[in-house]
Order: sequence, then C-alpha cells, then structure tokens
Amino acid sequence: MSRSTIHIRHDVPSPRLSKEQLAVLRGMLIQQREFRVDQLTELHRPSPSGPLSSPEPEIFRSLVAGARAALHEVQAALWRMEDGHYGRCVTCDGPVEIERLEILPQTSQCMACLRGPSR
Ligand SMILES: [Zn+2]
Repeated sequence: MSRSTIHIRHDVPSPRLSKEQLAVLRGMLIQQREFRVDQLTELHRPSPSGPLSSPEPEIFRSLVAGARAALHEVQAALWRMEDGHYGRCVTCDGPVEIERLEILPQTSQCMACLRGPSR
C-alpha cells in the first residue's frame, strides 16, 4: 500500500481563509441570522404599531420575503462552513474574494460569476 496516493485536498476548507478569519466570519453570520430571525418574529407579531398594521400588504409581503431570503442565504453560508466549502464559489468552485466575504459573509459567488458570462 502506497501512502503517496492519498488525497487530502478534499478536506481542506479553503486555502485562503485562516481559522481566525473563518471564526470572525462565522460570528458575523450568526449575528446576521439572529437579526433576521428577530426581524421575522417582529414582522409576524400582531401589534397595533407593528408593520402588520401597514396599510400596504405588498410592503409587508416584500419585507417578509426579503428577510426570509436573507436568512436563507446566511444559513446556507453557515452550512457551507460546516461542509468545508465556505469561501468557494457555488458556481465555479473558485475562491470567493476575501474582501467581499468580510463585507458580506454570506456571499456565495465570486465576482466573475456574479457578473455573469461576459459578452
Ligand atoms: Zn465563480
């Protein structure tokens, strides 16, 4: 049995993100998740002064949809962290720019894929 053929690359979370960076980004994601959960709870709380009393049900619906989509993105990023895929583009599997992750830790695509195919 030769040991030289063992592939361990698979287990490497991301070559460019240090443990410390991941810990910071995870903290940001957990904070965002809490914020969105609070927001959704708040939106669904029956209160005379709450957003539910808004005369515009469209606004309420779009607020809820936006918060849900954001929560889903944050949760998906946390799952990718568990899987060790965090920091990689979900489309091309390339590295996502760290500068963008630091601003928006739930970013799931690299800049090139976000922009779409160039013509
Ligand atoms: Zn990409």
